[in-house]
Amino acid sequence: MLTGQALAAFRKQLLAWFRQFQRDLPWRGTRDPYRVWLSEIMLQQTRVATVVPYYQRFLERFPNLHALAAAPEEEVLRVWSGLGYYSRARNLQKAAQQIVAEHRGEFPSRLEDVLALRGVGNYTARAILSIAFEKTHAVLDGNVLRVLARLGAVRGDLRASLRWQELQDSADAYLDRESPGDWNQAVMELGATLCTPKSPQCLLCPVAQFCQARKWGIADLLPEKQKKRVTVELRLAAAVFADERGRTLLLPPPQRHNPERLVDYGAALASNLWHFPTVSFNGDPIAKLRSHLRKLQMHNQDGNLQFVAADKVRHTVTYRSITVEPFRISVRKLPCVKGAKRVPLREITVLPVSNLTRTVARATLAAAAKQSEPLECVERPETRIPHSD
Ligand code: SF4
Repeated sequence: MLTGQALAAFRKQLLAWFRQFQRDLPWRGTRDPYRVWLSEIMLQQTRVATVVPYYQRFLERFPNLHALAAAPEEEVLRVWSGLGYYSRARNLQKAAQQIVAEHRGEFPSRLEDVLALRGVGNYTARAILSIAFEKTHAVLDGNVLRVLARLGAVRGDLRASLRWQELQDSADAYLDRESPGDWNQAVMELGATLCTPKSPQCLLCPVAQFCQARKWGIADLLPEKQKKRVTVELRLAAAVFADERGRTLLLPPPQRHNPERLVDYGAALASNLWHFPTVSFNGDPIAKLRSHLRKLQMHNQDGNLQFVAADKVRHTVTYRSITVEPFRISVRKLPCVKGAKRVPLREITVLPVSNLTRTVARATLAAAAKQSEPLECVERPETRIPHSD
């Protein structure tokens, strides 16, 4: 652990590097806790380049905490649509409402109050408080963990509780008390740009002289790899209805009391958002989808709907590997289903939908274009589907 003059020099060099070379990002330089909070939530498990346009669009629509707290949830999800991990958006809005109700709309500045907000964990609370309020809380996320592990040549499972605590102690000890906000961002920036998981660029590193892993030539080997969780394969079949006007049918976010449980939809496809009728299967996807549509009262008993396969869509969420098989079902009129909405298949994002649902829509449109069939096909004459038009 660095102490005394070495620690002072370490802090000085890292801060100077950060202030000169930090990336130009839209949330840099702001002390507005609402903006800092929004950026931290959006950056969870999401790359910086992906977040930038969403961050800007979100602020245009919800420029402050009050606007976010007062908006309909569906509108918040629509603006978030495509960024993934939608519980973040729901929690963000619930926390904004909490702040309005419990703190008169002023973002709290005490750690325990920030930790009490929906969706805010230890890392996020510390990041917001240090950046927006200059509170002396050191952060510990994946980037910081890697940098600290290399600086101190720490081996083993970094997420084991004892080792994690030791690294949090190091982060606290290294924290620059004069500029905690810049300091936390500097360590994270080092981890994101130079001290990267693969091939750290030690020759360009502003604190290379303090790094034990570099001295021992083991920077590439740290942090040590942990066993991967076994991947679970999930196969889903999705029904993409298309009527004569090019409209499709989306089901609302699954509720606990829905007869079709989330496990049948495939949680990843629905993400608690609007989605195509979807079911998991092992054998024949069409047979399973037919019976699923019957359960939803979207299929007539004759079973005459025609299912036209589109290209499979593959998606990975943490340890789940998902394959979706979309089937276009051309009908004269869309089935009438309580709670479902009719939207243009080419513009399903008028409702909040997941990226996977969008990709399924695109795959279906591409398949229709390939077969040179108009999307607005005419239903087989014998097919009778209940409708409400
Ligand atoms: S010297 Fe290399 S391994 Fe050490 S902190 Fe810098 S980039 Fe990371």
